[in-house]
Amino acid sequence: MRKAGHTLNYYDVCRSCGGEGEVIDIKSNSMKMVKCETCQGSGMVSIRKEITITITPKISIYEAKRARH
Ligand SMILES: [Zn+2]
Repeated sequence: MRKAGHTLNYYDVCRSCGGEGEVIDIKSNSMKMVKCETCQGSGMVSIRKEITITITPKISIYEAKRARH
């Protein structure tokens, strides 16, 4: 088994508010705009993606059955 890892860091437009920095407060019925909790009002977010790649040999059905016994 071989393992490899990649980390991606980038900035993107906040998906919660669409870059506005504010969202409509749906909890209260006042329809007022409140600061977006995801981006804290900046409209942008920092995204960190950690990708783990695991490479294993492909085991045939025959071998997989045999391994169980
Ligand atoms: Zn936001």
